[in-house]
Order: sequence, then structure tokens, then C-alpha cells
Amino acid sequence: MGDDKKQCIYCDSEGPFTEEHVFPAGMGGDDRGYLLIDTVCGQCNYIFSKFETSLMRRSVIALARILLQPHGRRRGEPPEIETLETQVIDSNGLSVESGHNGSKIEILAQLILIDDRIETTATDEESLQDFLKSLSKLLIDEKLLVIQALTKNKPKLFEVSTYKLSGRDYEFQTKEVVAAPPKKGIWISYTGHLNKQNKPAPTRIFLRSKGGIVLKTHDSSAVGKILGSVKRTLPSILSGSKNTTTSEIQNPLVAMTSESWSGDCDKAIAKIGFNLLVHSIGKKSATDVAFKKIKSLILDNTAQLPFSLLPDSAEGKIKKDLFANIPKNNHCLLLLPLNISQSEVRILFVAVLYGSIGVWSTLAESAHPNLLLNPVYFLVNYLDNQITTLSIMEYTKSYHPIRMEEMRQAFNTQNHFGGMPFNPYDI
Ligand SMILES: [Zn+2]
Repeated sequence: MGDDKKQCIYCDSEGPFTEEHVFPAGMGGDDRGYLLIDTVCGQCNYIFSKFETSLMRRSVIALARILLQPHGRRRGEPPEIETLETQVIDSNGLSVESGHNGSKIEILAQLILIDDRIETTATDEESLQDFLKSLSKLLIDEKLLVIQALTKNKPKLFEVSTYKLSGRDYEFQTKEVVAAPPKKGIWISYTGHLNKQNKPAPTRIFLRSKGGIVLKTHDSSAVGKILGSVKRTLPSILSGSKNTTTSEIQNPLVAMTSESWSGDCDKAIAKIGFNLLVHSIGKKSATDVAFKKIKSLILDNTAQLPFSLLPDSAEGKIKKDLFANIPKNNHCLLLLPLNISQSEVRILFVAVLYGSIGVWSTLAESAHPNLLLNPVYFLVNYLDNQITTLSIMEYTKSYHPIRMEEMRQAFNTQNHFGGMPFNPYDI
């Protein structure tokens, strides 16, 4: 370090400094070699702890931690959670809606439509009966209102569709956009491909923890048919449900939900990315002007970073193209320089957390290529709190057989790959 003056890598202050985990300890960070010492000041660390709390307790990450990282860093204490309802997938690959009560995950009362059968599940018999009765009341009339929230924030807008019973099914009649939703109606939520096998999650109808019955489906054209079939089947479910046994969720997997992803989560992700960059390229390089923007976006209270949670579609592609076979119980993180010209690279941070949550952040729009010459991978074993840094070749060789083959072929034909000369046999 010599006579270099110590400066906070984020705000340039001269301290006092506190230890900063390159990757959050609560998500599997490693104390051995992955701490930033005399690098981040106490004041910045204080700001970061607020973001991290949002990320680790109030986002989809919170649920992933509870389900997949049961003991936390200091064994015995389970991670805390403050999220709203989220979806989990049970050991049969079945998506079920859940809410939480403290750190306890509770299964919401629901019907799950699988092929030609309807399954019920709930925390207990009483809540299932209450739900089925409310649903029957809703479906008693010939006419039914289906409500979709069109906006998340203000101004709130809702699309209300009117359906009418016609023969076996409900038939769509009219729709309108309104500012206040009707009191009686069924809420609709459209899902993408939610489960691990990339099949659409089964359609389900459930009672939200804060009230309101929701139909969640991937098939917007089948709403009338689904509701018709539920109406016809409901009496037999109601009479038979006394014998239903409550489902226990065994080893559930987390499904994506972006409902509780806040601006603080975006900042926490960007901060993790920048910490990794500092760890990789050194403190001095990290003071480069190219990183000024991301640092100020992270620290500025009023600034918004771009949304960091990848949509399902992009996540699938990123997983396939950049990560392929991520080893079990590991997050996979990547610092990725993308050539934008001979003299400039864009530096991205891309990660798949808990095997299923894709995130990303731009760390520099335009940086000198020397700042980060090659991609750097990190595997974070979140059960053992162990981080491993890997070069692109090390990662590719161990976990990305398809790309390895592409590289061999590219080498055979052009003697280079992606503009970077290298010899893939020479490793
Ligand atoms: Zn600072």
C-alpha cells in the first residue's frame, strides 16, 4: 500500500473505515479473503446495510434464504423474512401460493388445476372451508367481474371484464378501464413460465392473505373456461373437502416473483457488483472516473438504478449462455466486460442467485479495456460461506461444456474467439 492515502472507495472520505463483505455474509459471503478492509467507510456501510436489509428480508431473496439456506451464517438462527405472499414449488414440482407469518411460511388456501383434476391445499381445514365458501358466493351469479390491476403504482388503473355464464362456461362480454376496482369480483394475475422445468405453472385460484380471491394463470384465453369448470366442480369439492388432508410442503423451491423488489434491492445488487470489481481490479483502478456514475447512483438517496431483476425470458437465456451448469448450492456471479469499441468496454455484473434468481447491473457504461480485461466468475457456496474466483476458462472448462465445444470449433476455424486471441487447448 506504501504511502497511499486511505480513501473510501465509494464516497472518497478518509474514514473511519469498517470491514465490508465483498458479498453479503447473510447470503453466503466468505470472511476468508473476501473482506474489503480500509476500503469502505462506516457511513457508506451504514447506508449499505439498509439496502441489504431490503434485499435479504423483503424481496424474493428473503424467501430463497429461508428455504434454501436454512441455518444462516451463525448456525441456529434462521434468516428473517418480511415479504408478502410469494409462490413456492413443492417437491412434486407443484406451484403453490404462500404467505408468511414471521419467519414461518404458510400455504394460502387454494385450488390448483392440473390437467383434468382440481387439488386443494391450505394451512388447515378451516381456512380451506372459508375460502371455498367465499369462492362459491362469488360464482353463484350468472354474471362475474374479472379484475386486473394494470398499474402497480399511482395512478392506479384496473381493467374490469364482465363474464356471463353460457352453458358450461363463462363467456366474455365487455371490458372497461376504471380507477377504482369493484368490491365483488375475482382478481386475475397472468404468469409466465414459472417452474423449474420451464413448463407453465398450473393455474390456481387462491385467497390472498390480505383478502381477495385471485385467479393466476398463464392462459388469458381460457379464463371463462377455467371459471366454468371451477363453478361446476366446486360443490363436490366442498362436500368432499372434510376429508382433505393438509399438504405439507417438502423441500420447496423458490419461484420468481418481482412483487417485493424495491429500488433498494437494485442498489444492493449494484453494490455487490462493484465490491466484486474492487476485489478483482484493486482499489486504485476502482477510483477510475468510469465508475463515478454507479457509485453516485448507489449512494444518492433520490437516484433510481435500472431494474436489476431479470425477467424470466432473459434469465433463461443468461443462464444458458453465460452460466450453464451452476453447481448446486452456489450463487454464480460474473463481471463481464463487453467491447463497445476498440478503446471502450461496458462492464456488467450478472448473477444467478440461489439457482433461480437472475440479477444484473451496469457498473460502467464506458471504461478503458485495461480496467477489466477478461470476464471473472465467482461461485459463492451459500451453505459453506465459501467464495471461489474463476477465470472464464476455468469456469467454462468445469461448468459450460457447450461453450467449451464452441470455443474449440472457433479456434479451429479462426484462431480467435470473441475478438480475444487465446488457445483453448493451452489450459
Ligand atoms: Zn464512504
